[in-house]
Amino acid sequence: MTEVSTPYDGIEPGLARSLAGRAADQQPQWPDSGQVREVRKALGALPPLVEPDEVDQLTDRLTEVALGRALLLQGGDCAETFAQNTPEHVRANLRTLLHCATLLRVASALPVVPVGRIAGQYAKPRSEPVGSDGLPSYRGDIVHSATATAEARRPDPRRMLTAYAVAQATLGVVRATAAETHAELFTSHEALLLDYELPLVRAGYGLSGHFLWIGERTRNLDGAHVALLRQLRNPVGLKLGPGVRAEQVLAYARALDPDRRPGRLTLISRMGADRVTEVLPSLVEAVATAGHPVVWLCDPMHGNTRTTAAGLKTRHFDRIVTEVEGYFAVHRALNSHPGGLHLEFTGDDVTECLGGRENLREEQLPQRYLTACDPRLNGRQALDLARLVAKILMRRPVPQDAVQV
Ligand code: PEP
Ligand code: MN
Repeated sequence: MTEVSTPYDGIEPGLARSLAGRAADQQPQWPDSGQVREVRKALGALPPLVEPDEVDQLTDRLTEVALGRALLLQGGDCAETFAQNTPEHVRANLRTLLHCATLLRVASALPVVPVGRIAGQYAKPRSEPVGSDGLPSYRGDIVHSATATAEARRPDPRRMLTAYAVAQATLGVVRATAAETHAELFTSHEALLLDYELPLVRAGYGLSGHFLWIGERTRNLDGAHVALLRQLRNPVGLKLGPGVRAEQVLAYARALDPDRRPGRLTLISRMGADRVTEVLPSLVEAVATAGHPVVWLCDPMHGNTRTTAAGLKTRHFDRIVTEVEGYFAVHRALNSHPGGLHLEFTGDDVTECLGGRENLREEQLPQRYLTACDPRLNGRQALDLARLVAKILMRRPVPQDAVQV
């Protein structure tokens, strides 16, 4: 673990002071601290990637989700890479996002807010610092190359400037797609790498993306990530795994949503198919009783990952469906609004998750296993999941104040 260090080149002084000395989990060990400072300074002098107005727009949309009058669909790659971020790939992912959103909208008769895991999802937390090959674990293209050599895995801070440029180019495709499809599209990523996020904070907004979240591995209540996101004016998310207790969730809600503003905080539960109906109810009840109008999102991916005998990380479609069904059942039983889904998918024809309509089997995984990190649903699997969710939504009770169409 490292600590947020001084001097603070490129970072707003008040922000730097509030984070100084706080524990920062999952940060790379940059070999050259002088170079990191140079890069932070350069990032701090560049224009923001997104605009405060757009961020406020998303807050307005998420307010509607929190009040039960809309749904949120968040999804895209687990890890975006510099090389795979072609216009074709970005468009395929956005098409999948928008197509799934349409299915949910038609079924629910509610607006669906589409938020990509896109244009910033370049940093990965890792459970193990060293992989089974003896090399430092891959922490995302923003840190180093995925190539399996010690030299390639050396953290290189200049890659943060490449990430900025790739994000900007990707945002160009996002904006063009939004214009062509007359859809609103928002961006999001895990706000993990502090040396990248901090210089892009301007006037209290984190302008590396519209929506930023804290991951399961960096949600130390007293740590730097919570300290950063609590002061941002963006809507923020927090991943919650099965080990979290209700008192902890309330402490997070007090820290991240002190004013109880609907849409400010999205709690993303990723419990696993076997745990969701056991763990989630007490959390939903506690948060509701405390009066935090959060958005509850279901991430049915990260609690359902396993490694095959051949060493590939995968997820079975049926486990993903089971967690989604459990999540909807819990919210229905508690008369709580099921805010939507957080998914890892791509529009590309990959073979990374098992099962689904084509009943993808373990021995087929290597055919087109292209992910840089976690296994993604392919386009067909994502749409099939959205169709199943659409069926659940069509059975849901109509909220009292919903406008009938
Ligand atoms: C992710 O979203 O890719 C991720 C690492 O999730 P979590 O923090 O929930 O494990
Ligand atoms: Mn992932």
